[in-house]
Amino acid sequence: MATTPAAQQDRTLLVTGGTVHTLTPAGRAEALAVRGERIVHAGTAEECGAALDGRVDERLDLGGRQLMPGFVDAHCHPVMYGQNLAWADVRPETVADIDALVAALRRHAEGLRQEAPLRGFGYEHRRLAEGRHPTCQDLDRVATDREVYVMNASGHGGVVNTYTLHKYGITAGTPDPVGGRIGRTASGEPNGELWDGACDLLTGPDGVKITNHGPNFHLDDPADIMRGHLLRAQQTFLAAGVTTIGDAQASRRELSTYLRARDAGDLRMRTSVYLTSALLDTALDLGLGSELGDDQLRIQGVKLYADGTLGGWTAYFPEGYAADCCNHGQLYHDPAEYADLVLRAHRAGFQTATHAQSPYAIGMVLDAVEKALADTPRTDPRHRVEHCGLPTDDEITRMRELGVHAVLQPQHHLRTGDGTLTAIGEMGHRYNPAGLLQSAGTEFAFSSDAPVAPPRPFEAVAAAASRETVLGTRLGTPEMRLAVADGIRAHTLGGARALHRENEVGSLRPGAFADFVVTDADPYRTDDLARLATAGVDETWIGARQVWSATA
Ligand SMILES: [Zn+2]
Repeated sequence: MATTPAAQQDRTLLVTGGTVHTLTPAGRAEALAVRGERIVHAGTAEECGAALDGRVDERLDLGGRQLMPGFVDAHCHPVMYGQNLAWADVRPETVADIDALVAALRRHAEGLRQEAPLRGFGYEHRRLAEGRHPTCQDLDRVATDREVYVMNASGHGGVVNTYTLHKYGITAGTPDPVGGRIGRTASGEPNGELWDGACDLLTGPDGVKITNHGPNFHLDDPADIMRGHLLRAQQTFLAAGVTTIGDAQASRRELSTYLRARDAGDLRMRTSVYLTSALLDTALDLGLGSELGDDQLRIQGVKLYADGTLGGWTAYFPEGYAADCCNHGQLYHDPAEYADLVLRAHRAGFQTATHAQSPYAIGMVLDAVEKALADTPRTDPRHRVEHCGLPTDDEITRMRELGVHAVLQPQHHLRTGDGTLTAIGEMGHRYNPAGLLQSAGTEFAFSSDAPVAPPRPFEAVAAAASRETVLGTRLGTPEMRLAVADGIRAHTLGGARALHRENEVGSLRPGAFADFVVTDADPYRTDDLARLATAGVDETWIGARQVWSATA
């Protein structure tokens, strides 16, 4: 591993000439003193100079700009995001119908090797003009001699062409795999759709298998291409001012990619990894449990799934959906099986992070956590509910009592709030009620879930403050909105706490890493949320080193 030479460990940096937002009780400072990678003091320029014993190796003059802690994105999928960025873009913003989707894939093929699989990311069937998923026949118009796959925006599955069905031996006689579904025509022939555990079929005999532990988006590429995916994603995070991330579903594909990037000196973001619960037995066999790793890269916990997605209408509502009372969505495990997974992870010392959207699913998580805590008391395990879209008031209170953190994505209600209202009716107005969590004293963090939404922390903060969707619908009541200052905290210190990293990142306190961003606009100016949503970052620094600059 790379070590820092003694001279660099002692190198000093003095930041002056602007406003330093510390995210500590002091709030603001005019200067920042840094020695090595860590902050020594935040205060007046005079105090900071004195804190460095008058020796300044490097100066950063803010020139009237603002400085704040680097953002923490506590739930995202960088490897998948980078991979998706390299695929054809078939999001609703780009393709209006299936003809356009086919055309986008054909264009994408022009830049690829002839034998390479042809993949696209991000279609949403309800927003295609046809209002349906593409079929294998639609994708046969793209190619009949190579693999074609379009992944749904949810990441929980998608559609392949006939060549791919044949290649992996998927026929009318193939049973639905555990935890998955093969889409079929009325006569039982596969129609190209593969969901959740059925995507295990696409990773080939030696590939990553997730079974009923969630979606399988772990399609492999050669090591050098995987490295490119990670670095492509990392650039996007750094450009958005994100300096620490939580990878919310890691298999060997992710961990090996991070390790190679770290060994090559390419990994810049501080990375906390949550292993898919499909690997829980393996992790326990290895004796893993409490955090393993260092300030750069660590295994932090286990990622589990309670229910499905709101966007895909697979989040679990026992009473059915408003738009389709026959559809109830799905659970990945029955409550007893799920509680056993949480208990075993908890006993070993892992932090758990469970995807749960509906009130039922969130309740299932809280029941399991309560049981695990009663079985094996642990100090401050901070089990997490990921997304936590629709918690009831009682559940918000229970979360506080159990010390459970919610990890929300305000960019989701911004983009899909209207679809959620259609799907589940009035209850959709409660989607992401950050203001209610804030007033209840329940801890929460903001995140992007990239690739589901791009990493744009200011957009997330503005979306939580306005609760307005892209179509202009105002969701819920004013008390569900979250003040901008609290939103910034949720995307910095809140994220750091969700990752058990608050002593290192998320605020500019003495002893923390000098991970910060420089912005032109005042992030605390709240009179123009549209402007805040599109605010950019001038510079991003990690460990007192500039890692990204808008002018570089
Ligand atoms: Zn996710």
